[in-house]
Amino acid sequence: MPHYPHLLAPLDLAHVTLPNRVLMGSMHTNLEETGDWNRVAAFYAERARGGVGLMVTGGMAPNREGGVFPGASGLFSAADLANHRIVTQCVHEAGGRIAMQVLHAGRYAYSKDCVAPSPIRSPISPFLPNALNEAGIEKQIADIVQSAARAREADYDGVEIMGSEGYFLNQFLVAHTNQRNDRWGGTAENRMRLPIEVVRRVRAAVGQDFILIYRISLIDLIPNGQSWGEIVTLAKAIEAAGASMLNTGIGWHEARIPTIATSVPRRAFAWVTKKLMGEVTIPVITSNRINTPDVAEAILAEGCADMVSMARPFLADAHFVRKAMEGRAAQIAPCIACNQACLDHTFQGKLSSCLVNPRACHETELVLAPVVAPKRIAVVGSGPAGLAAALALDQRGHKVTLFEKDTAIGGQLNLARQIPGKEEFHGLVHWYETMLGKSNITLRLRHSAQATELSGFDEVVVATGVKPRDPGIDGQDGQNVSSYIDVLTGAKPIGQRVAIVGAGGIGFDVAEFLVQGGDSPTEDLKCWLHEWGVVDPETERGGVTDAHPAPPKRAVTLLQRKSGKFGQGLGKTTGWIHRATLRAKGVKMIGGVNYHRIDAAGLHISFGPTHDNATLIEADSIVLCAGQVSETGLTDALRELGKTVHVIGGAELAMELDAKRAIDQGTRLAARI
Ligand code: NAP
Ligand code: SF4
Repeated sequence: MPHYPHLLAPLDLAHVTLPNRVLMGSMHTNLEETGDWNRVAAFYAERARGGVGLMVTGGMAPNREGGVFPGASGLFSAADLANHRIVTQCVHEAGGRIAMQVLHAGRYAYSKDCVAPSPIRSPISPFLPNALNEAGIEKQIADIVQSAARAREADYDGVEIMGSEGYFLNQFLVAHTNQRNDRWGGTAENRMRLPIEVVRRVRAAVGQDFILIYRISLIDLIPNGQSWGEIVTLAKAIEAAGASMLNTGIGWHEARIPTIATSVPRRAFAWVTKKLMGEVTIPVITSNRINTPDVAEAILAEGCADMVSMARPFLADAHFVRKAMEGRAAQIAPCIACNQACLDHTFQGKLSSCLVNPRACHETELVLAPVVAPKRIAVVGSGPAGLAAALALDQRGHKVTLFEKDTAIGGQLNLARQIPGKEEFHGLVHWYETMLGKSNITLRLRHSAQATELSGFDEVVVATGVKPRDPGIDGQDGQNVSSYIDVLTGAKPIGQRVAIVGAGGIGFDVAEFLVQGGDSPTEDLKCWLHEWGVVDPETERGGVTDAHPAPPKRAVTLLQRKSGKFGQGLGKTTGWIHRATLRAKGVKMIGGVNYHRIDAAGLHISFGPTHDNATLIEADSIVLCAGQVSETGLTDALRELGKTVHVIGGAELAMELDAKRAIDQGTRLAARI
């Protein structure tokens, strides 16, 4: 009996049979923009070796005006062919298959030259698009078709035509962005003309023996989006026009509903794909928040789709499928859907990577080569920095002892996993436990390593982390005052009215923890959909209605000394979700404050440099989330003994510490020792 019989079943596409039902979905990593196509090839080849059935590249522009940003990579000149061939050749040599995504961004293109059906600016772009005339539309079709034909010339196994997420083709489909009254707009039939025409002409250009995936928006998540009837009609027409498969797109980029963040329940939108099953005869692919083989298998076994697309999980672990095949699913490094090193980087124009796997997109540069002369190495602290260092050192062949003063590994990950909406951190800690168990590392729990006992090691890595910063507020020793650690470990009871000092990542997390009061909509799909106002697109165009947040479990006030926007340091693609969640729960956010004192009545503050408007924030509990400082005791003691140490993670620099930096630093250090 094979593991995951549905997931690992082959998929017959007439001219080709895919070995399994796993698609690596398209991701824009910015790798192509490095100009180093050998590096791009190494990224995809590694994933091909990992056994994935079919991969789709990041979106490739069919022409300059359709690029997501100026200079975005594409396949619009014969000169690009040679670069793309490096990728396809390496993937094929590794035994994989790869399709190229053709992505025309339409009004989402970050350029004054962007084009669209109508001159309506997107809320997420500063540029008013140029409305296309008939000749302009014909040019866009021709460019998309030519790009697909060139993909075939470049030896890709297929193309994916991007028709969802609010990009160019999707923009023609709804009156929200298409207010034309010619044959490309007005009636539903006219609005569908462009995507159908594109697929028909691409198929004619590439021939029958070439995979043609169409990414269809099954729920737009914008007001006045497509009706379900229109979506089904489009799906059937796209099949008739020659598509080999339909891939699911969920929500436009401008939608104010999270679709892939960690607080989105797993497989949150598989039910939407299931609605399409039986309406078409070609295979249907589902996507969004699927990150384990068990979840993927269940989706297929329940008939929600014929194939499952996962994108970010292949950054976290290139060998996802192979490990599932070999019964080693527990060893798959889990994507925790944080976006911190992938999408947040992409949107900042930086190279993508992965918080849990810093080697992602750095395959050629961050190499954990076996060592010739193994050393005895002590790693002190089993938070993310220490764990990453210890595992990578072990992988290279060093003899590692890992010291942890607590009863369990994980450090601050154990706090993060308590936050509603951050349940994926449980999986990350479990993965570290599994990998430690498989390694040769000696783990010493409940052992606070002292400098004197470390002198016998060849190298010492200090990853002792951070401790809470003391904000020095008068009255902070009172019974009604707690640290964030007290709150998240349940060490102290918390009242109904709470003031939180500090609105960084931890202040936001604690606020969310307190207003949810033990509930997590992330664990309850029906509740989550209701809270965000997501409905069946059969009942409401676009599948969106009013949000219905459950009442907060506590009255929370979040404070910071700086004035300006709250949550400025939160993730670029996720900060808005945290702000929206707290706003929906009635959390008051007060900035520009001075803290004066705490007493039984609450927190006394004033405003601005001149300390105006002395105010009492009435509160039963005050929680201190005023940042963190490095835990330097061991480093200082070792240096006093003349020992050379490697200090990483929060122990080195507490400012703007997060697991991404900690894991990256630990891994990179291990690659050098
Ligand atoms: P942080 O983000 O640096 O925030 C510290 C907060 O404390 C700020 O609001 C700061 O604002 C305030 N503060 C600083 N010094 C203070 C003082 N002496 N007295 C009173 N208030 C003071 O640190 P953190 O919240 O501890 O988070 C630690 C790290 O983990 C951060 O890098 C964070 O990004 C990361 N993290 C991220 C997330 C997330 O993205 N969701 C979640 C958890 C943690 P004022 O100076 O304006 O008062
Ligand atoms: Fe997943 Fe976070 Fe890695 Fe992105 S950075 S792939 S979301 S774990």
